[in-house]
Amino acid sequence: MKYRCILLFGAPGAGKGTQGKIFGAIPKFFHCACGDVFRNLRTDTPLGKVFLQYSSRGELVPDEPTIKLWKESIKAATSVGRFHPKHDLLVLDGIPRNVNQAKILRDTLDVVGVFYLENSNPEKLIERIQRRAIKENRLDDANLEIIRQRLKTYEAETKPVLKHYGNKLVHVINADQSPAKVLADILHYAVQK
Ligand code: ADP
Repeated sequence: MKYRCILLFGAPGAGKGTQGKIFGAIPKFFHCACGDVFRNLRTDTPLGKVFLQYSSRGELVPDEPTIKLWKESIKAATSVGRFHPKHDLLVLDGIPRNVNQAKILRDTLDVVGVFYLENSNPEKLIERIQRRAIKENRLDDANLEIIRQRLKTYEAETKPVLKHYGNKLVHVINADQSPAKVLADILHYAVQK
């Protein structure tokens, strides 16, 4: 059985996490942020170390351990009854993060919509990421050089995922708007899924 899902898509700092948290609070939606799954790993475990090694450089963790960890986390959420695959719409954020991950997950995910949170101003993204660094104590958000590398990684590796899924599935959402307005725009389509 494939997981019915929608993807929250956009650059680091675009507001995916903010929207994801709201979705996570609505019955029949289950939010999973891949970055959170990584950050919940203990840093003294082998994979925790790998995560730190890559994320602190603004790079993606290799695909194989990423997919394995993500699948384990979804299975764990299912077995404790937090996620009900038959009844819930899975809201993914941060995965698939490149075209290869999308291909690996082809048999696992039934993607019914991709919400592309589009920002007009990259400098605004950087400002938001830096504010978050202080609030959430995130190493990968800490310095400007790493942030710029994360934005580059996004452009080069993540953005092609949009093309992979194609125009029919992708909804462009104006992410310059207030969080409530962004939510309203996403919900407008998501409730029809
Ligand atoms: P943001 O929401 O700011 O884009 P995330 O919290 O999603 O950042 O991710 C933080 C870091 O975790 C990424 O820079 C990357 O190193 C790693 N990561 C998260 N998801 C994936 C993924 N699907 N594949 C590879 N690496 C990932």
